[in-house]
Amino acid sequence: MSGLRIKLSTKIAVVAAMIATLPAVLAIPAAFALQVKVNPSHPKLGDTLSVFINLDNPKADSNPKVTVGNKTYPAFEIAPNQYRAFIPTTPLEKPGTRTIQITGEGQVRKLTVWVRDRNFPVQRITLPPKAAGVEATEYELRRVAEFKALQTPKKYWQGIFLKPNAGRITTVYGVRRYYNGKFAKDYYHRGIDYASPEGSPVVAPAAGRVALVGKVSQGFRVHGNVVGIDHGQGVTSIFMHLSRINVKEGDIVRPGQVIGAVGSTGASTGPHLHWGLYVNGQSVDPVPWRYQEYK
Ligand SMILES: [Zn+2]
Repeated sequence: MSGLRIKLSTKIAVVAAMIATLPAVLAIPAAFALQVKVNPSHPKLGDTLSVFINLDNPKADSNPKVTVGNKTYPAFEIAPNQYRAFIPTTPLEKPGTRTIQITGEGQVRKLTVWVRDRNFPVQRITLPPKAAGVEATEYELRRVAEFKALQTPKKYWQGIFLKPNAGRITTVYGVRRYYNGKFAKDYYHRGIDYASPEGSPVVAPAAGRVALVGKVSQGFRVHGNVVGIDHGQGVTSIFMHLSRINVKEGDIVRPGQVIGAVGSTGASTGPHLHWGLYVNGQSVDPVPWRYQEYK
């Protein structure tokens, strides 16, 4: 027994000596200046990917760059020498590998992430032969597109997102549709629907700046009365079909603040709230944002 003890302590001493020499190895210049990490490590379609980047000596106005294919996503400083970029994924994409390229401090890192498939529910809609669809106005489309394209450097939100309405969820994110037996390949439900009586309060799920207020009377035929909140750093929320709006553009809202009320304005068949969460212009699944903090 005592012999074993001696052997063990010798081993510990050897390991300790190795650790003592490690800092000298790590001191080799530049090799560790750019460190990257992606969350979650096993994402599925609809998830928001967070790319965290650590730099040793970031120079002023030289944020690292994150690209996937031909798309570039902005990285924002979230702590001293630490940056984060969000990459949206959607049901319209193919599952499989994504190569994320990160450039910073004159170095390039490539990360490969496997995005898993996911079974999105399917709805089969039968429309009468001459169903008169509601068409969005050009003004409505332009205002909404400009809103979703926001990449404000300021980060307004903190912590997890709240439920914007107390109603039960009637349609989840990502539902695909067949119209009269034909698969709508560009359609997916870009948000979550909550069924609630007309007039039920709608609250801001997180802090932000009201960057869009649109009304039916201004031509918002599809969205109806609508509020858009800019949470900052490429994250935006849109609230559709409202009966009432309690905020104006430029207002800063806090989480839980009433911004309007449930209605059935625009292209809607009954009172409900549609909440869409967008990351760098793409509609992502809001559910993970409700249960974990995106830093
Ligand atoms: Zn909806």
